[in-house]
This record gives sequence, structure tokens and C-alpha cells, in this order.
Amino acid sequence: MFDLTDQTAVVTGGASGIGRGIVEMLREAGATVVIADLDLEAAERTAKETGSHARRLDVTDRKAVHDLFAEVDETFGGIQILCSNAGIFPQASLETMTDEQWNGIFDVNVRGAFVTVQEVLPYMRAAGYGRVVITTSITGSHTGYPGWAHYGATKAAQQGFMRSAALEVARDGVTVNGVAPGNVATEGLKAQGEEYNAQMARAVPVLRLGDPRDIGAAACFLASREAGYITGQVIVVDGGQILPESPEAILPAREGEQGA
Ligand code: NAD
Repeated sequence: MFDLTDQTAVVTGGASGIGRGIVEMLREAGATVVIADLDLEAAERTAKETGSHARRLDVTDRKAVHDLFAEVDETFGGIQILCSNAGIFPQASLETMTDEQWNGIFDVNVRGAFVTVQEVLPYMRAAGYGRVVITTSITGSHTGYPGWAHYGATKAAQQGFMRSAALEVARDGVTVNGVAPGNVATEGLKAQGEEYNAQMARAVPVLRLGDPRDIGAAACFLASREAGYITGQVIVVDGGQILPESPEAILPAREGEQGA
């Protein structure tokens, strides 16, 4: 495990789901973690359970983002890691999708990531060190899914943003990378029921859904000092989900076999 002792990380959307997995792994590596989430109550609960700190933040509110980083820098003496993870994924078919729905998801997923990264960079550049990890997705850059055309567009946009941002800060000791989860067993997915989850798991070559900590492990690596020669890259964390050419390429489960 990488040693992140003496480093401060801000994780947006860290109160639940994948963000919580990232928080847990960063904490286990010794980082001081600030969970910045729209849902303060959930953030406080997760902070208590993981030994982190909670702040309310809406990533679409530039002033709030600006003020949060100023306060975190003042309180903890620097910000070495930003995990830009907050995101939304409402479903809408192309038949009914409105301009408001399109703009709304871009506001959170793309402008929210842009604002958060832009506002943290002065602290990292001044220190000559920083690690930015954006939670993107396989959806958009690698795959598509009916009902998520706008979502897929935001996740692909994040990756386009990340690559150019990485070049702009390459000489400042700052790296900008992404993690691209496949289907992760968050509370939202679990709520779809056992049969739905089992069916989803059968579509993954390792025969199980992702755990938030699987994504946290990749984010933790990219957030480490040791990953300093990696920038502008995306690590796909999907149990091989995007590999098969067709469903037949996934070997059927053996009798009683559980996912690896
Ligand atoms: P989630 O709904 O469990 O968690 C998202 C968190 O973000 C919540 O705590 C929520 O309160 C917070 N949030 C929402 N809007 C916010 C805002 N404007 N400002 C600050 N916080 C806000 O979702 P999740 O599944 O853990 O998704 C997290 C990220 O992972 C998203 O970027 C999502 O696109 C990405 N992702 C998820 C999956 C998956 O299978 N769950 C797959 C690929 C990518």
C-alpha cells in the first residue's frame, strides 16, 4: 500500500458509493481526507465511520468550491490530492430528453469537474506537487447504454478535459488522471434487486460487479507519489467488462462458482 501520510485529500461526492470507496482507501494509506459532498448528513456519517472530515459542497457553485479549498488549505496546511468524483446519472431516452436535462448533467459532471480542478490547481502549483484523479466511466469513452447518451457524453468530455489539463500542469509536479469504473455495486445498484445484480455480474468476465474499494485502490495508486510519471491517463477498473467481442466470449460460470 502507498504511504499518503502527511498528505491531505479532498474527495468530492465522497459520502457514498464509489467516493466512499476512494475515501476508505486513501484513509488506509494514511491520508487526511476531507469529504466534500452535497449531502452533508451522509458526508458526516461517512466521515465518522472512516476518520475523515466532512464539508458541504455543491461542485457547481464556484464560490463555494473556491472557499472550500481556501479553508482546507488553511486548516490542514495544503492540498496534495483532489479526487473529483461527484457525479449524477439520471436516465433519459433521446425521445424525451430536454435541454434542461442535457445542461443539468453537464453542469454537475463536466463543469463541476472543471471548476473543482481549476480551483485546486493554484495550491498544487504553488507547492510544486499535486495529484488529481477524476472519476470518469467506461460509458461514453468505451461503451454506450440506452438512456445515458447525455451521461456518456459527460464522461467522455471529462477525459478530453483531463488530457489537455494534464499537459498544462505537467511541469508543475501535478498529474491529472482518471479512473473509469465499470458497473459498481453501490447502494443505487443494489436497490435494483438481486436478480438484476446477478444478471449484470454475468456480463462481467470476472463474474462479479465492482466494489467501491476496487475503484478506490486505482485512485489511491494514481494519487500516490509513486505514480508521478503517469499523467493524462485513464485506468479502466471493470473486471474485464469492455473486453469481450460478444457475450459468447465470456466463459460460463462453473458449477457453484462465485466471482473472482
Ligand atoms: P452515488 O450517487 O452513490 O454518489 C455520488 C455522490 O456525489 C453522492 O454522495 C452525492 O451526494 C454527491 N453529489 C451529487 N451531486 C453533487 C454535487 N453537485 N456536488 C457535490 N456532491 C454531489 O454515485 P456513484 O455511483 O458512487 O458515482 C460516483 C461517480 O462514479 C460518478 O462520477 C459516476 O459517474 C461515476 N461512475 C459510477 C459507476 C457505478 O457503477 N456506480 C460507474 C462508472 C462511473
